[in-house]
Amino acid sequence: MSKKYRIAVVGAGMGGLLAATMLQRAGHACTVYEQAPRLNKVGAGINIAPNSTRIFRELGLERQMQAAGIRPRLKFSRAWNTGELLFTVPVPEMQERYGAPFQAFHRGALQEVLYRTLPAGTVQFGRRLAQMTQQPDEVHLDFEDGASAMADIVIGADGVHSRVREILFGVAPADYHGLVAYRALIRNSHLRPADNTKWWAPDRYVLVYYTTEARDEINLVTGSPQPWTHGDYQPRPASVDDLLATFGDFHEEVQEVLKAATEITCWPMLERDPFSPWSSGRAVLLGDACHPTTPHMGQGAGMAFEDAVVLARCIDEFPDPGVAFQRYESARYARTARIQRDSHANEWTKKDMDADWVYGYDAMTVALE
Ligand code: FAD
Repeated sequence: MSKKYRIAVVGAGMGGLLAATMLQRAGHACTVYEQAPRLNKVGAGINIAPNSTRIFRELGLERQMQAAGIRPRLKFSRAWNTGELLFTVPVPEMQERYGAPFQAFHRGALQEVLYRTLPAGTVQFGRRLAQMTQQPDEVHLDFEDGASAMADIVIGADGVHSRVREILFGVAPADYHGLVAYRALIRNSHLRPADNTKWWAPDRYVLVYYTTEARDEINLVTGSPQPWTHGDYQPRPASVDDLLATFGDFHEEVQEVLKAATEITCWPMLERDPFSPWSSGRAVLLGDACHPTTPHMGQGAGMAFEDAVVLARCIDEFPDPGVAFQRYESARYARTARIQRDSHANEWTKKDMDADWVYGYDAMTVALE
C-alpha cells in the first residue's frame, strides 16, 4: 500500500486544484492555500485541448466541463487584412482522432468546476505564503496573515511569480517575451463572429472565440510587440483605443469585435528558459511555477494539468518523496521544455501542422520510468 502524506498545495489555480483532487482521491490529506480572499472570476477565456479534456473525462468530470464551456464546431486561421482562410480545423474530427474534445471556457468557470470537486474546507483562502522552512521530515509554512501550517510535502502551484520557487531557488523574475496580450470580453452582444478564429498578421494576432455554448460571451485575446515600461509584471487596465491603435488595420470583422470590447486588460507575456531541478527536499513545483510559457499555443494550463496528474501518480507510486519528485521531473521535463520552445516561436496553427504530439499525450498512462 502506498504511503499517505499531509500535503500542502500553494495556489488554487489550474494545476493546484487538479493536484488536490488527484491526491485526495489517492487518500492523502491535502490542503490548498490560496492568496485570493475568495474564488474570483479573474482572467478571461481559456482554450483547453484534448490532452487536458482527456484527464477531466477520466476523472468523471466530463459532464460538468461540458456545461461550463463550449465545444466549438470549427477553428479557423485567417489572414488579418483580407480574411483569406489559411486553414480550418473541424473540431469534431479532433474528438474522433484524440478521443477527447477541444473546449473553451471562461477561466473562472473552469476553476469553479475544479474547486467543486474538492470537499468543503480543502481550500483555505486569504493565505498568501510568506516563508517556508524545511526540516528533515516535514515543512513549516508561514502565511502573511500570521497563520502557519505543517506538511510532509509542499507543492508550489503558485504560478509564474511563484513564492515557493523563490524560497527554494532564489529571486529571479521571469523573462519578458517582448509581446503583450490584450484580453477582453464581450457579453450579450448582437455580434456573431465565427467560432474560434485566429487572425494572423506577420507580427501580431487577434484570437476571437466564444466561452459558452449559448454564445453569449465572446473572448478576445491578442499578441503584439510592445515594450513593457511598468515597474512590475502585473496586468494593467487597457482601453478600446489601445486595441484600435494596435489592430486598426485588421479586417472589418475584427474591428467590430474590438470596438465592442469590455473588461480590457493588458498582460506582459512571460516565460523562462527550461530549468532544473523542480524540487528541493520535500518541496516541488508544478505548472507556471517551473515552466512558464507564452500563451501562443494555448497550453500553459494544459501543462499544469498534466503535471498535476503525473506528480500525483509519482507521489503515490514511489514511497520516497525525493525519488517521486525526480521521476516526476524526468517524465515531464522534455515535453514542457518543447512546449516552451515551440510556443516561443509563435507559429502554432499558423498553418496546418502535426498536432499529435501535443494533443495525443495521456498523463494518466504515460510511463513514469
Ligand atoms: P495559476 O493558474 O496562475 O495559479 C496560481 C495560483 O497561485 C493563483 O490562484 C494565485 O493567486 C496563487 N498564488 C500565487 N502566489 C501565491 C502565494 N504566495 N500564496 C498563495 N497563493 C498564491 N493556457 C491554456 O492552457 N490555454 C489558453 O488558452 C491560455 N490562454 C492564456 C492567455 C493569456 C493572455 C495568458 C497570460 C495565459 C494563458 N494561458 C493559457 C496560460 C495559463 O493561464 C497558465 O499557464 C495557467 O493558469 C498556469 O496554471 P498554474 O496552476 O501553474 O498557475
